[in-house]
Amino acid sequence: MDAAEAIQILDVERERGLALIDEAASLEELEAARVSLLGRKARFTEVQKALGGLADEDRRTVGKLANETRAVLNAELQARGAELERAGEAEFLEADGVDVTLPGRHPRSGSLHPLSIVENDIVDTFTRMGYVVAEGPEIEDDWHNFEALNIPPDHPARTMKDSLYLAIPGLLLRTETSAVQIRTMESQDPPVYIVVPGRVFRREAADTTHSSVFHQVECLAVDEGLSFAHLRGTLEAFARAMFGPRRRIRLNPTYFPFVEPGAEVEVSCFTCDGVGCKVCGNGWIELLGSGMVHPNVLENCGYDSERYTGFAFGMGIERVAILRYEIPDMRMLLDTDIRLLAQFGAA
Ligand SMILES: [Zn+2]
Repeated sequence: MDAAEAIQILDVERERGLALIDEAASLEELEAARVSLLGRKARFTEVQKALGGLADEDRRTVGKLANETRAVLNAELQARGAELERAGEAEFLEADGVDVTLPGRHPRSGSLHPLSIVENDIVDTFTRMGYVVAEGPEIEDDWHNFEALNIPPDHPARTMKDSLYLAIPGLLLRTETSAVQIRTMESQDPPVYIVVPGRVFRREAADTTHSSVFHQVECLAVDEGLSFAHLRGTLEAFARAMFGPRRRIRLNPTYFPFVEPGAEVEVSCFTCDGVGCKVCGNGWIELLGSGMVHPNVLENCGYDSERYTGFAFGMGIERVAILRYEIPDMRMLLDTDIRLLAQFGAA
């Protein structure tokens, strides 16, 4: 190969190279172009190998031109490579990208169960009056569930409800949250002002208004000088806080072994305001049981019943929820139907 031939090859290769690089549509094609232009078998490489056989003057001229040609081709390869990489990234973003301006998809959110809402409202009403929350075990012994509450073993009140006993003698699932009253009085001196939320258990078939497991809230107040008037005032304040400022209450004498006297509390109907409608019948709705704490109960807990008096009352949370939200069947509160829960804020 002489100098003229080498120079011609370099010119041709330079032009061919620039066109080839420009046409490369991918990084793979660009690499193929590089091999074809500057690889071991390229014509450019043949020229370089031939340099040693040229005269000094020619070698300098051809060598210089070869270096320039390689520099130009390398610069073009690099520029085109960067261009193709950018295009590839843009294409990737186009295909797999996220449009951050689209509105998001919200995950479903939960809400408090209506029973929790009602329980919280009842408990809040009393804690605002100064009562403190007390809780106790769901498995109780005979003393706390019955005997200390003035219900001895042969007392007919024990047949008033069917209890769920454990296999261990003397233990049962508590039938009332009242056992917590006993546990509290046993562990502290008066005055006592407690509000007791919790689950209770009965051997009862479930129907629209009954369930074998339900929730109660009870209150107990023991202090010097508490009278029936304090009980009535507290109940009226509660009824108005829960069901509206126009509610009235009335108390009918009744019997519970742990109070004397005992009273069933009715509240004026929220629908007809006490006139009488198909919800209430006679204008009044039965709400809860109450009474003055029986002196025997105070004495059972070591309190001086000559010095201290108290009142207590308790209600079913399901019953309050049914009344407040006009739910036709108590069992709906125990189903996990999201359509019911959605009406209480779940979305
Ligand atoms: Zn009514």
